[in-house]
Amino acid sequence: MRLMADGTTPSESQRRRATRIADRIAELYPEARTALDWKSPWQLLVSTAISAQTTDENVNKAVPGLFARFPDPEDLANADPEEVEQLIFSTGFYRQKTRSIISLAQDLVDVYGGVVPDDMDELVKLKGVGRKTASVVLAEVWDQPEIAVDTHVKRVANRLDLTVHEDPVKIEKDLKAQVPVRLHSRFSMRVILFGRGVCDARKPACGTCPIRRTCHWPGKS
Ligand code: SF4
Repeated sequence: MRLMADGTTPSESQRRRATRIADRIAELYPEARTALDWKSPWQLLVSTAISAQTTDENVNKAVPGLFARFPDPEDLANADPEEVEQLIFSTGFYRQKTRSIISLAQDLVDVYGGVVPDDMDELVKLKGVGRKTASVVLAEVWDQPEIAVDTHVKRVANRLDLTVHEDPVKIEKDLKAQVPVRLHSRFSMRVILFGRGVCDARKPACGTCPIRRTCHWPGKS
């Protein structure tokens, strides 16, 4: 059995409650997938890397031009940064993102021969790839039981008392310890949709929330 972030084992009732919550959210969003368009692990890795501080729609508009000009990691590894900057300008923070994806491409070519590894420990060794990005790629592409913790997952997990932590790595551990493995790979995307559509940061729709009864958040309206 997986341990929580504090090293304890979740109780039977904690696991039952987390299962009920995850199953209910799965019923609400059965087909939840990333909104990023991708045709290969490499494309999803790059799109996820440049999705920070912008919308998935903006990324989807920018990347076809990027991948048409630089289709493979080898191409991007040798790209002129100014050209890449122009192609991803609309996603914001374009200089920083350009440096980041070119370094990532170079690292991927140097270390893994341009092939995206399907393994968390290997993926996070790549420059600029953190657990969140790696989890998205592993869960979406290979259906691996990974849970990416973004701002929505962090907020919803705390409100629902599935964690008491702010640190994404600790939240990931708490969630993996309580939510059944069969629900891990889609959990993050489902909770993101739930967080956007129901459990909003500023105005949660508690009155019509389908898991209201199991939520004990003091700010519940
Ligand atoms: S009752 Fe409100 S705070 Fe609790 S999960 Fe639902 S929307 Fe979020």
